[in-house]
Amino acid sequence: MDCIFCSIISGDIPSKKVYEDENLYAFYDIEPAAPTHVLIVPKKHIASIMDLTEEDAPLVGGILLGIQKIAKELGLEENGFRVVNNMGQHGGQTVFHIHFHLIGGRQLFGMV
Ligand code: AMP
Ligand code: ZN
Repeated sequence: MDCIFCSIISGDIPSKKVYEDENLYAFYDIEPAAPTHVLIVPKKHIASIMDLTEEDAPLVGGILLGIQKIAKELGLEENGFRVVNNMGQHGGQTVFHIHFHLIGGRQLFGMV
């Protein structure tokens, strides 16, 4: 399968790793929208939020807990941060391997 994030997880495409556990891989976004911009990706290839199934529930919980750990490690807890998931065309999704953006390090405004 031709998926850029699967290639990043396997190490075929280089990335700046922030965090890794059994189920998750997190790395710095190549085009940061803020001083800190990390992508949190499950190692399992799931195209989008619409492709999750009941059996993925523990994985989804692990993503939020992973984000919590990363936010603490990167010092984002005190001032806060944003977590974003883009789905499909109107959502602005460009990589069809589900991922969550962790964005912080400056004041964020608005929703879009
Ligand atoms: P989305 O638009 O929500 O699908 O987000 C995809 C994100 O992946 C964008 O913010 C890109 O900047 C980022 N991205 C694409 N290719 C790479 C890469 N090779 N390394 C790190 N981030 C990437
Ligand atoms: Zn993938």
